[in-house]
Amino acid sequence: VCTRQTILLDIVHRNIFILTAGALIEEVESTTKTARIAVHTHIKGLGLTPEGVALPIASGLVGQEKAREACGVVVDLIKSKKMAGRALLLAGAPGTGKTALALGISQELGGKVPFCPMVGSEVYSSEVKKTEVLMENFRRAIGLRIKENKEVYEGEVTELTPEETENPLGGYGRTVSHVLVGLKTTKGGKQLRLDPSIYEGLQKEGVTVGDVIYIEANSGAVKRVGRSDAYSTEFDLEAEEYVPIPKGDVHKKKEIVQDVTLHDLDASNAKPQGGGDVMSMMAAMGKNKKTEITEKLRTEINKVVNRYIDQGVAELVPGVLFVDEVHMLDIECFTFLNRALESSLSPIVVFATNRGVCNIRGTDVLAPHGVPVDLLDRMLIVRTMPYSVEEMVQIMSIRAAVEGITVSEGGLTALGSIGARTSLRYAVQMLTPSSIIAKTTGRDEVAEEDVGEIDELFFDSKASARLLKDAEGYLK
Ligand code: ATP
Repeated sequence: VCTRQTILLDIVHRNIFILTAGALIEEVESTTKTARIAVHTHIKGLGLTPEGVALPIASGLVGQEKAREACGVVVDLIKSKKMAGRALLLAGAPGTGKTALALGISQELGGKVPFCPMVGSEVYSSEVKKTEVLMENFRRAIGLRIKENKEVYEGEVTELTPEETENPLGGYGRTVSHVLVGLKTTKGGKQLRLDPSIYEGLQKEGVTVGDVIYIEANSGAVKRVGRSDAYSTEFDLEAEEYVPIPKGDVHKKKEIVQDVTLHDLDASNAKPQGGGDVMSMMAAMGKNKKTEITEKLRTEINKVVNRYIDQGVAELVPGVLFVDEVHMLDIECFTFLNRALESSLSPIVVFATNRGVCNIRGTDVLAPHGVPVDLLDRMLIVRTMPYSVEEMVQIMSIRAAVEGITVSEGGLTALGSIGARTSLRYAVQMLTPSSIIAKTTGRDEVAEEDVGEIDELFFDSKASARLLKDAEGYLK
């Protein structure tokens, strides 16, 4: 029976099981949008000195010093809890590192801080409400760190001497014929007798004298560390009389930490859509709409989460929601955002745009960046500037290193000038094709001519549009 209170417990339990039994890891589906941040894997932070000054090249970031320093101030504001109800807007031309900066902010906030990127136009779908898409992304960007203290008994497996076998464990004495293994505890040298089933299990798993094992107080899971890789298995500890573990003597606390997002919790607790029969579940899966997350479910999850936070079992880890092309959102979305930013369960929202003054979508009202003034008032605005060719070359060489591609100096310069002519993003995309050309000619290093060849084969968006415009006569 799944009562409301057990929702989170189930998750905790499942994940703990995953921690102790590695084989089940694939059960938990990651909901991070990994593909979208794959091109930014070299970004490790904002690359600032402790005084907040941007180093020319650091933490994977190149140039864009002013914007990085401004982002550093935002990180300080977030850390001192002064960003509540506010947001950051990165304004600048495409390919000026807005996504990279937003990711840098999340990295500065800590390694396990969620980063959820989305594009404004993503909210328009014929199947899902706009505000629902926004809500889901909000919850993908809020992490929850669940901590659980487990009582664990640790000891070294020893062979009991015949003496001990005969008069074992002063006070715990019982029939002893089966007791061949004991736990020499780290404190006080006491020995614990184990149930024969555990002993058999230990033998089966190859645990021998000298190994260090852990027994979890409640579940009876025994974990071996030491000579070979850690393994774990579960044993039936029902025969309690054989496991006289003295409280406060040999146990030590083992903290288990599990990071999930609120969206992970929503998704794991959502009910299959449609009828409960197999056919409709299959049909729902076919449509890739296996689950339905309702407002009611989210409210319930929030209640449980808040209780866990109050009890000190869980801690909220607000992450970064990055909304690119914010001008694509309409007035309904902005109304939602205004409210959502006020919520106590809000991530840090970083908006980005490359538009100046334009219409607020869905209205005739002109506004800076197409964002209503009341929302704009809550935003700290940071400008990002175009890169110089040298900076592009440097970014390119960092990306090449991350992707394991060797590029000659001439090749890097060629890529840098392509970037200057087209866009940084396009130039970065040319890296892998250039390396393929190099390989087909039997070289491991990308040379200038490989880049040149690729440049002739592909068109950047501007060039492609120009070509079609010139050919309009033919197309008609
Ligand atoms: P924007 O969001 O402004 O369009 P972006 O961050 O998405 O820019 P891209 O145009 O995708 O940047 O940039 C292409 C590549 O260059 C990405 O791998 C990105 O991480 C990297 N990049 C952009 N700016 C910097 C920078 N200042 N330092 C290092 N790498 C950068």
